Amino acid sequence: MNRPYNFSAGPAAIPAEVLEQAAAEMLDWHGSGMGVMEMSHRGKEFISIYEQAEADLRELLAVPANFKILFMQGGGLAENAIVPLNLSHAATVDFVLTGSWSQKSFKEAGKYAAQAHVSASAEDSNFTAIPPAASWDLSRGASYVHLCTNETIHGVEFHELPDLKALGSDAPLVIDFSSHVASRPVDWSRVGLAFGGAQKNIGPAGLTIVIVREDLLGHALPACPSAFNYKTVADNQSMYNTPPTWGIYMAGLTFQWLKRQREGGLTGIAAMEQRNIAKAELLYRSIDQSQLYLNKVAPNCRSRMNIPFFLRNEALNDAFLAGAKERGLLQLKGHKSVGGMRASIYNAMPLAGVQALVDYLHAFEQQHA
Ligand code: PMP
Repeated sequence: MNRPYNFSAGPAAIPAEVLEQAAAEMLDWHGSGMGVMEMSHRGKEFISIYEQAEADLRELLAVPANFKILFMQGGGLAENAIVPLNLSHAATVDFVLTGSWSQKSFKEAGKYAAQAHVSASAEDSNFTAIPPAASWDLSRGASYVHLCTNETIHGVEFHELPDLKALGSDAPLVIDFSSHVASRPVDWSRVGLAFGGAQKNIGPAGLTIVIVREDLLGHALPACPSAFNYKTVADNQSMYNTPPTWGIYMAGLTFQWLKRQREGGLTGIAAMEQRNIAKAELLYRSIDQSQLYLNKVAPNCRSRMNIPFFLRNEALNDAFLAGAKERGLLQLKGHKSVGGMRASIYNAMPLAGVQALVDYLHAFEQQHA
């Protein structure tokens, strides 16, 4: 089936192979007589789905043995509260503000931590650059340092994680990797905890992935809800409460799909990363070379996943979107807080989809020159 290319920022496109397999298994999963949504989470069928998904994610992201993988509910915004409820035993938590999502995390943490401190902010640049790590004002003895490593709205990505020790901080690094999880490898030697909603790169909304170093478990504030206490969740293999079973199953199918990906002799996440670099380069080059389109983000921190761009003549916005839709290029409208356009090109977007967008960018510009 020839489907349009979907550039939604999330919930976002899912690989057609994954959707087809889920459709084929909808009424009867592997001869069990049940669909996955109808299974007890404690039955052997679902346990096997869960164990495979966990093992595949651990393999794909090369998650070390001293990290727990938790499958939770609540999404990225709930984690903004759940992280401080679990980790803010010391007085201060540090934030680097690089866009809307880290700003939201900072505001929420202030409800739970004694002090939420801004170590650096890119607000002055309208969130088009990342303040250099050497300039961050990191607190002594902070519980953690929070970054959003891919700002979905502003299109800003950390291409390297900071080495907090080298910057004089002993705090664990907490990253919100919602919108670039599984698009590139993660340097776990620099991370204490990573969280992300699934609905961009991994599957349907409703599943939240938390990957946490074991020594950070067991320090929750007394008010932390049991279902959101990382230690309780870890001790119960993510089944203290009913986990988002359908989301875990769909994520598992996506992990299998990721493992099958090949690119230039590479497999899995390494292959994905190569493809994502090629896709992003193609799109940024075409925007930079045009007279009509503009991306304002500093080249060293441009996101490979979310590419906001503006038409210099904003009166053409509606015509641009209508023409895109006609060509089967969907959901290109920018976030309301930023305006303009945004192309989200997660793992499920093939190079051919980005090429189709680039062809349209050229054609539209010529038509309106
Ligand atoms: N963090 C980031 C980076 C996001 O992109 C989003 C959603 N767009 C969130 C957090 C919030 O996720 P949710 O809506 O699942 O709570």
